[in-house]
Amino acid sequence: MKTDAFIGLGSNLKDPAAQLAMAVAELSALPDTTLVAQSPFYASSPVGPQDQPDFVNGAVWLSTGLAPHTLLDQLQAIEHAHGRERLKRWGPRTLDLDLLVFGNLVLNDNRLTVPHLELPNRDFVLQPLLDLKPDLALPDGTSIATLREQCPDNRLRKLPPPDYP
Ligand code: ATP
Ligand code: MG
Ligand code: MG
Repeated sequence: MKTDAFIGLGSNLKDPAAQLAMAVAELSALPDTTLVAQSPFYASSPVGPQDQPDFVNGAVWLSTGLAPHTLLDQLQAIEHAHGRERLKRWGPRTLDLDLLVFGNLVLNDNRLTVPHLELPNRDFVLQPLLDLKPDLALPDGTSIATLREQCPDNRLRKLPPPDYP
């Protein structure tokens, strides 16, 4: 059985758009997983500490046979391979991969909270989700479109698609 999983991607170090493009390729290559769609990328102002570069954010829609914690293991392995270091909360990072939505799963344990806790407060997460699936809703029925309308503004700027050689 496959589940629709939505992953948020973010980076603000070492060529963020390239970090994200590479991560999308790596996510599509995960075992028992296919890439359904990828969102445009957006530039956004940082949350938390402001003395750091702007972020590039995006999201992907995966169809996966992996269990949620196994998927989290895989996300963390990709972050690690991109040189992710956890120095300070919400500080600069080469790659952040967050599991935003996993089918209709609602889960809260010491490793994983799904849907992602901060999802309603982040336009840089909600907008790419909306691009991927305009009728997406959380397990409790709340539509992403409604959350997007109510969300604080982080000055999102849609980036042009990358030039492929
Ligand atoms: P935020 O979660 O506010 O976006 P962050 O992404 O910077 O902050 P990380 O340092 O990437 O936070 O992750 C901290 C911990 O969050 C991870 O060790 C992981 O176990 C936990 N976590 C809980 N829920 C999730 C989720 N839905 N997706 C990814 N990590 C999660
Ligand atoms: Mg995050
Ligand atoms: Mg994270």
